[in-house]
Amino acid sequence: MEKLYLGADIGGTTVKLAVINGDGDIKKKWEIKTNTENRGASIPQDIHVAFEEALKELHIEKDQIAGIGAGAPGFVDTDTGYIHEAVNIGWKDFDFGEQLKALTGLPVWVDNDANLAALGENWLGAGRGAEHLIAVTLGTGVGGGIITNGQIINGANGTAAEIGHMTVVKEGGAPCNCGKTGCLETEASATGIVRKAKNALTDFEQSILKDSIVSGRLNSKEVFEAVYKGDELAVTVINDVMDTLGLAIANLAIAMNPEKIVIGGGVSKAGDLLLDPLQEAYNKYALNRTREASSFGIAELGNDAGVIGGAYLVKKNQ
Ligand SMILES: [Zn+2]
Repeated sequence: MEKLYLGADIGGTTVKLAVINGDGDIKKKWEIKTNTENRGASIPQDIHVAFEEALKELHIEKDQIAGIGAGAPGFVDTDTGYIHEAVNIGWKDFDFGEQLKALTGLPVWVDNDANLAALGENWLGAGRGAEHLIAVTLGTGVGGGIITNGQIINGANGTAAEIGHMTVVKEGGAPCNCGKTGCLETEASATGIVRKAKNALTDFEQSILKDSIVSGRLNSKEVFEAVYKGDELAVTVINDVMDTLGLAIANLAIAMNPEKIVIGGGVSKAGDLLLDPLQEAYNKYALNRTREASSFGIAELGNDAGVIGGAYLVKKNQ
């Protein structure tokens, strides 16, 4: 009998769900709305019901299911699936893993969403088969997942690979959601890129981004488009941001000597416009021998990375 794996990727607006087999073929994927009312209390039940309905529809018996791998944005105790805090969802001190296990009667593994995305890319995406991998997610925030000796690392209390909160500006850095200032997330996220472009306008009054900046409509995609057109403001800002990110990754690389560095998230759609300056910075800051072992790639699984990573988390642990 073919074993099947359930993946759940819980975000602030939707919960992405999938039924996946051992080869990584997606039998079904869909999403439900994240009900954040009542501090997200109904989410375990919503996920349970959604999976029950899907298994019925696909004529799959429960004993075919090896387990559920779920991810949430926040601080997760991976041993128990206890969520210390997931701000976007409303959870605080929430025993998500235990609840989902009790409702479904299935084994459940929980990790944070960035770690799940790293696992997904490691199984079927740009980091396929890598034993030593850094995955960076560049979106409204900056997330990270680190795989070393084939295992995702969580650390003493689940904050390993929270690379968005590496301090990269010692003084006068922008405030971060975590309470610190000068975090990588404040510099290299989509939000950070836009803020830096705004601040640079006084030095580059002739920039083609001026109208967007002044009207407050600017987004990071537009900044990369302006790089493509050779706009000096955009080139300066992106080179500066990628220099900081390359430095952060080079320093991380000394700790775990990656063979693959995968860049994902919305900002990674910029492709080579992002990778070229990033690699140049990494090459400048990394130890030569460390650099020789590693290559960069853009994430391949898009929005499916989390659910595929969830399935892989079960497959690896069962
Ligand atoms: Zn921070």
